[in-house]
Amino acid sequence: MQEGNQKHNQSLGLYVHVPFCSSTCDFCAFYQERPSKKKIESYFLALSREMKQSKLTRLVDTVFIGGGTPGLLQPNELLELCKLIQGMGLASGVEWTIELAPNEVNPKKLSALKAGGVNRISLGVQTFDSKLMDDLGRKHGPKKVYQAYKNIRDAGFESVNLDLIFGIPHQTIEQWELDMAEAVRLKPDHISTYCLTFEEDTALYYRLAKGELSIDPDKEAQYYERAWNFLPTEGYKQYEVSNFALDGMACLHNLNTWNMNEWIGFGPSACSQIDYQRRKNPSNLEEWAAGIVKGFTNDQYDEFEQLTPIALAEDALLFGLRMNQGICLPKISDRFGLPRQSLDNINQFFEKLLVEGLAEKNDDWICLTQEGRVRADAIAAEMPVFHID
Ligand code: SF4
Repeated sequence: MQEGNQKHNQSLGLYVHVPFCSSTCDFCAFYQERPSKKKIESYFLALSREMKQSKLTRLVDTVFIGGGTPGLLQPNELLELCKLIQGMGLASGVEWTIELAPNEVNPKKLSALKAGGVNRISLGVQTFDSKLMDDLGRKHGPKKVYQAYKNIRDAGFESVNLDLIFGIPHQTIEQWELDMAEAVRLKPDHISTYCLTFEEDTALYYRLAKGELSIDPDKEAQYYERAWNFLPTEGYKQYEVSNFALDGMACLHNLNTWNMNEWIGFGPSACSQIDYQRRKNPSNLEEWAAGIVKGFTNDQYDEFEQLTPIALAEDALLFGLRMNQGICLPKISDRFGLPRQSLDNINQFFEKLLVEGLAEKNDDWICLTQEGRVRADAIAAEMPVFHID
């Protein structure tokens, strides 16, 4: 690894999407498909081409390997993946995370990842309750989670996140509290808590559409608040609506994204935000691989947007408000080169939030109160845009 990224004033994240899963969880809306030897070979071929073609001239500050189920790859394939990533040029001290499902964790894979440079594991626990796990269409039980966690620590990984989900059909608040307590008992460094969403074309969505399940927004708010109240008392400081960490263990890759810096994504369905472009690769292995050989035109991406400083500043506001540190409006306008008058509408909006007790102010920084955080989505929807004459 080389010296840090000194010449650039914003950090660069690198994301790799590994699109293979052995089955589909009932809530899953991510692009994934069943692996085969042939598909894995063509994935690696296209991935190495895509990385070479990117001609990155900057060092990468954070790496995140997600999926899909990256842990489905064999140890030699995981090492190959890590070598491709190392070839992109990594800053010293890079934070390098991989998502692993408990069923896929074993000592051989972990030692391949360690040798390859990975230094942070995000374990997809979701819940410790076997019945709720079944309801999610997940294949692992709590025993697998305990074994996987032990293997990860035994392999010497010092930074571990546990992903938990709440709002599972038929889950009670008490079950959610038990899940959080069990996660804390394992002493991870970071805990992410996600509200189950009913994405279109998932098995859960069809059950919702048929009336077999229902959504209860009041209960959702209760789940959130229980996490916000409980996890900090156990040393897990909240730094974003859904994320909690021991001191110094916040996820730098996510912070890079929420701060509207730059990131580059590789693999089918991977997203990039770089050089004032935001784009999403095709969510199909063949289309993605063919596009890399022929070269993509903008309309061949699943999504493509030419960004402006105003668009980036607005996203920095929206994502910034989800973080506990909040936002500093003068800093945002300076960073994106926007005149201070462009903030007038936004300042007025925040004055209203302050009066309503939904936000609080500390010097130039504004953050949401707990009540404001419960209503973060509604506040984001009402946020006025920057006003430029
Ligand atoms: S393991 Fe993850 S990506 Fe794969 S089906 Fe389940 S939720 Fe989706």
